[in-house]
Amino acid sequence: EHYLKQINEQKHLNVFLDVYETEALIKAENLQEKLEAGKPLGKLFGLVIGIKDVLVQKGREVRSASRILEGFESQFSGTAVQRLLDEDAIIIGAQNCDEFAMGSSNENSAYGPTLNATDNSRVPGGSSGASAVAVQAGLCMASLGTDTGGSVRQPAAFCGVVGIKPTYSRVSRYGLIAFASSFDCIGVFSTVIEDNALILEVIAGHDDYDSTVSTEEVPLYAESLQVNKKMKVAYIKETLENEALQTEIKEATVSKLEWLKGQGHQVEEVRFPHLDYVLPTYYILTTAEASTNLSRFDGVRYGYRAPEAYNMESMYKLSRTNGFGEEVKRRIMLGTFVLSASYFDAYYTKAQKVRRIIRDETRNMLSKYDFIVMPTTPSTAFPLGGKRDNPAEMYLEDIFTVQANVSGIPAISIPNGTDAQNLPIGLQIMTDVFKESELYAFADYLM
Ligand code: GLN
Repeated sequence: EHYLKQINEQKHLNVFLDVYETEALIKAENLQEKLEAGKPLGKLFGLVIGIKDVLVQKGREVRSASRILEGFESQFSGTAVQRLLDEDAIIIGAQNCDEFAMGSSNENSAYGPTLNATDNSRVPGGSSGASAVAVQAGLCMASLGTDTGGSVRQPAAFCGVVGIKPTYSRVSRYGLIAFASSFDCIGVFSTVIEDNALILEVIAGHDDYDSTVSTEEVPLYAESLQVNKKMKVAYIKETLENEALQTEIKEATVSKLEWLKGQGHQVEEVRFPHLDYVLPTYYILTTAEASTNLSRFDGVRYGYRAPEAYNMESMYKLSRTNGFGEEVKRRIMLGTFVLSASYFDAYYTKAQKVRRIIRDETRNMLSKYDFIVMPTTPSTAFPLGGKRDNPAEMYLEDIFTVQANVSGIPAISIPNGTDAQNLPIGLQIMTDVFKESELYAFADYLM
């Protein structure tokens, strides 16, 4: 009831596309009975959680914040969502986001932008912007978002909350509407590390419905949050020297690194000359994957079909023309271009090779250091409308976050103070694959 009231009072933030009021209250009552009857309680007993509108739930509408899915209801629940329910969590609603998770400001939603709760004239980040605001504004205790190139960490930084992108393949993608399948990761937003760790522990792990999920055992993340040795920490010279980096963010990052040194940890500068190639690689490969993934939305099988269509071809064309927003269309076209016969080798194949180099270099760094620390974003939350008309500038938002997705490694963003305008600053920590336990413990230590 508390959270439903908060959601109602903060409607202007435009966080929830659906609120499951009746069902949430029934579930809460059932849980109360379970408690009173002395039955065993789930790990997430009573946790009130919101879900980004790209994760399907049985019998519920899901839109990916797109017109093209309008009216579509899922016939099954995704694995992560089902595991939350099985551990007695209460799902309170579906959260706004950028259409098909493409964006860095939540302005690409067909259902209007979500506002940053710290300053309503600013964006919350994206694409999981509303999932971050929901936690920031106290509309639920935690949220599930997705991170293909930073969509959990960047909004977490803009909203002053904790956001993790786990190792690729750690969490099943079954029931996640695909954007770029070799990058997509379900991630978690919370205010504190312990909640985050507990939720990841529940949703992670082997799943018969997704053959790409790792069978690696899931540790009890929330139970091992101590740092009891001196760590080796690297920071990348090129990130701190990036021209676009806001001075206060640089200072906040440097002062954290100094603090670590003071605590006796080994902190060293490393070079990563390929930083400039990370974004182009990401945008070539993700648009390629998106163009094929989104070909299934043809007006036949899901949601919207253009009523004015007069034959099959016009149905495809009109449904996709009217159903997709501008950014999604831009990416489908870019992706189709880089996959076309004449350009495939020049762009797609080349980008795959560069991806391998970036991954190998990153993993190599992480064989020598426990963690890489850097700012999550070059700037704090920018004004609504500020970058809308300049896609290239918007893409630069992801400069520090995409390395983790290109490499498949886990990364977390934690709050690291505020700038002169009181806007939250984020600190990003990355580590090697499947080292989420260590990542959580170190992040907790730094918070
Ligand atoms: N901002 C990035 C993009 O638009 C990341 C999106 C994401 O992680 N889903 O592609």
